[in-house]
Amino acid sequence: MNRCSFCGKTEKDVSILVKGLTGFICDVCIDYAHELIHDTERKHQIKKSTATTQRLLKPIQIYEFLNQYVIGQDEAKKTLAVAVYNHYKRVFKTKKTKETDEVEIEKSNIILVGETGTGKTLLARTIAKMLDVPFTIVDATVFTEAGYVGEDVESILTRLLQVADYDVKRAEKGIVFIDEIDKIARKGDNPSITRDVSGEGVQQGLLKLLEGSKVNVPPQGGRKHPEQRFIEVDTQDILFICGGAFDGIEKKIAQRLNTSMIGFKASKENEKIDRNNLLQYIAPQDLKAYGLIPELIGRLPVLSYLMPLDRVALRRILTEPKNALIKQYEHLLSIDGIHLTFTEDALDFIVDKAIEYKLGARGLRSICEAIMRDIMFEAPTISEKAIIIDKAYCNEKLSINVLHRLKSAV
Ligand code: ADP
Repeated sequence: MNRCSFCGKTEKDVSILVKGLTGFICDVCIDYAHELIHDTERKHQIKKSTATTQRLLKPIQIYEFLNQYVIGQDEAKKTLAVAVYNHYKRVFKTKKTKETDEVEIEKSNIILVGETGTGKTLLARTIAKMLDVPFTIVDATVFTEAGYVGEDVESILTRLLQVADYDVKRAEKGIVFIDEIDKIARKGDNPSITRDVSGEGVQQGLLKLLEGSKVNVPPQGGRKHPEQRFIEVDTQDILFICGGAFDGIEKKIAQRLNTSMIGFKASKENEKIDRNNLLQYIAPQDLKAYGLIPELIGRLPVLSYLMPLDRVALRRILTEPKNALIKQYEHLLSIDGIHLTFTEDALDFIVDKAIEYKLGARGLRSICEAIMRDIMFEAPTISEKAIIIDKAYCNEKLSINVLHRLKSAV
């Protein structure tokens, strides 16, 4: 009777017995071998990623890495480069010299202020890609104070655990991007009038995550149930990057600048304020005036801003980043053996329409999709080996109807 050469079970005891040159293997042993291979591969990967993180890039190198993917936003890139460098230096340093080190480097969570679609998420995502650490994006608006309908803030960490494949150690070195942090600003000056369940309460909830503490995380997310088993996650080394548009914060900045101008008139006389770009003067007080609680602002010590994207920036976004939209389409069609070219005036036209219909950087993609749809539909079956997209073709594909539809989608 044939037997598995590994476990000795007979043909009758197993579902499948695979025949080799000199022996057999059963389905159970195949499964076991598969698991073993998978586990070893994962261990290798973890080792590799820890090694890359430990070979930390210097701030200038981080900045240069960001330059490959993000156009403009120099201030934010430099601030991020320094903050990320210090954060991971702190993470690895505290490991090695906890007992001997006198100076404890504090956690430097980050807050980025800038209109939607200017690259806040892209910056955070690119940093995570560079470091090869688990990364997740959460929207602050879905959270409510514990006990109310909505998600508990702890579920932020559930998502991080999920992307880290439930490897707690790896998740504890990850990056969380909390989007729309401005939407949980305190609504009024007097918090006691009505209960602000999605505002101040959530800010309070976020505090304990941001400051670095051990948090019980429901592995499947959702609300906490007493009978659910929790995973303990230490948030000490998790880097939190918050982003928000903070619509109208310029007014708060202007107010503050006016007051301080009066107070320090003599010394500030030579300093000219650029009224067209007030965001560059943003300070923590402005976030407080906007409705973030001081304790939360204190946990987000690194503050930077992103500029609105102008025509030049949008034009560069189309072609320059490493994974620029146009490069992606060229690559897609090259797989079908087609050489795709966009003329310069076609690219200018795309940018013009993005600006005219206020579609921003996000809209560039939908415009390109509308232009490319028919070509991508036909390309795999046509015999042409070169396609040139010019302004006339773009104009034909971007009827006013299409543009209006795109606008309502952005
Ligand atoms: P935000 O988080 O500020 O709302 P995103 O980072 O999500 O904006 O940007 C949306 C998309 O627009 C990005 O995925 C990217 O394709 C493009 N984009 C936005 N800003 C830039 C930029 N500065 N450089 C390159 N691409 C950008």
